Amino acid sequence: MTSLQEIATAAQEIIQICEQKKTNKTDKEKLLKLQAAINSHIEDLTECEACGSIADLVVTMTIERVTAKLCKDCGINAIEAGKIKKPTTRRRSTRTVQKKASTTKKKSTRKPASPRNTDELYAEVEKQTSLKKTEVKRLDKIIQDIASPMNLENTILYVQREVDLAKLKIEQDVLKTAVTLLMAA
Ligand SMILES: [Zn+2]
Repeated sequence: MTSLQEIATAAQEIIQICEQKKTNKTDKEKLLKLQAAINSHIEDLTECEACGSIADLVVTMTIERVTAKLCKDCGINAIEAGKIKKPTTRRRSTRTVQKKASTTKKKSTRKPASPRNTDELYAEVEKQTSLKKTEVKRLDKIIQDIASPMNLENTILYVQREVDLAKLKIEQDVLKTAVTLLMAA
């Protein structure tokens, strides 16, 4: 039996034990033994240097001064082709992936470095305008939802209109202050 078959057989035995109506101390010992067997069979598995599949039938082959550990299929292919095809891009590609991953990581960690502290901002606006927090939030949302940012004056006009449409009662001066503060953040 190959290692993979051994693992499968052991796994089946484990299932059988687990599905028994009653289990006892001996079963626990059996499970431990099976687990150990599975572990050692997994360790026996070797990665084929050509295709990356794990198999226990990996052979070391040298053709035209290229030596590689190959699985059965790749070994046959190599003999037929008269040369060993090692995936030369493998190492390079992993490095590219790692590089990419690290840059993405950097980017994502940099982004929240300067977040709008909305809690503080809203509190400040509340303090200066005597608006309720829900109103401040509402105004901020209107501003944030503007698809293409405008200058302060137009933003105030825009928010004013939205506020009127929503029938919110916010005095113009208060609204102006609030929008100015929210936009400055
Ligand atoms: Zn292979």
